[in-house]
Amino acid sequence: MGSPNGESDVIVIGIGGIGSAVVYELAKRGIDVLGLERYSIPHTMGSSHGYTRIIRRAYHENPQYVSMITRAYERWRDLEDAYGEQLLYETGSLTAGPPTSDLVDGAVTTCEKHSIDYEQLGADETAERFPGIQLPAGFEAVYQSDGGFVRPEAGITAHVRLAQRAGARIRAREEVVGWDSTPTGVTVTTNKGTYEADRLVVAAGAWTGNLIESLDDRLSPERQVISWIQPEQPEAFTPDRLPVFLVSDEEDIHYGIPIFGAPGVKFGRHYHLNEVV
Ligand SMILES: Cc1cc2nc3c(=O)[nH]c(=O)nc-3n(C[C@H](O)[C@H](O)[C@H](O)COP(=O)(O)OP(=O)(O)OC[C@H]3O[C@@H](n4cnc5c(N)ncnc54)[C@H](O)[C@@H]3O)c2cc1C
Repeated sequence: MGSPNGESDVIVIGIGGIGSAVVYELAKRGIDVLGLERYSIPHTMGSSHGYTRIIRRAYHENPQYVSMITRAYERWRDLEDAYGEQLLYETGSLTAGPPTSDLVDGAVTTCEKHSIDYEQLGADETAERFPGIQLPAGFEAVYQSDGGFVRPEAGITAHVRLAQRAGARIRAREEVVGWDSTPTGVTVTTNKGTYEADRLVVAAGAWTGNLIESLDDRLSPERQVISWIQPEQPEAFTPDRLPVFLVSDEEDIHYGIPIFGAPGVKFGRHYHLNEVV
């Protein structure tokens, strides 16, 4: 092995949704950071593409997420201010299903616990307010007005460009093939060279198990499939007419996002087919 190509305070492996934010936050604080990404930035091979990601406060999964979500809203707004581009769109969120479903019950519990404003709507009321959504009779919906979506690729670009302005070095199309602890820090080997740093951040998403052996058998990356459906009346499915939504039928959760970025309503099933890859 030749001499290292450079030394940094911190090396970040993976410049996706998480790694891009890490390089920015470090560089902003005056830390000498090197980011390494195996593909282009952004790209369509990981978890952070497809124009939109839902952000919502009525988090049915667990009320404990709310403090993190509140902080996430603040940080997205800070990023918009720093970069000068809209990245978060508030459309409202609709969480729907049978009244006893975990989805509806969980959304109400979270809103109540954190004093988040919400409305409970029946199927008819929902269709009147949002003609793009026709729920089965007997379903209930929780509408929360702060819900919406963020732009993942634009967020990555904003973080990386701001990080570079703050002095970060970002190397795309350079794959990390291994790393070692040394008495003073780490040595990281890529397909193009070796680098040294005091500290290492692994933000490799679904590939984390390849880089941290002890996590390999705990992580099971799954294939997710998303569709963009072209409605006959697209005017009912624009961000000003349609909230982001999650609908449960007791077995599955489906979710959707209004037309944005691609000419269709984004629609997917949570966990898709549980297809480990
Ligand atoms: C289809 C889908 C829909 C989702 N919907 C939502 C949603 O609506 N709301 C929500 O909050 N979350 C959602 N999520 C989750 C969210 O998008 C992810 O949690 C987030 O994007 C993960 O970011 P990440 O940085 O961990 O992964 P990634 O963005 O995949 O980044 C990991 C990066 O590491 C790089 N890398 C890996 N190995 C190496 C290596 N050896 N050398 C160099 N680089 C390497 C990869 O190329 C990649 O760029 C969704 C996820 C998916 C897949």
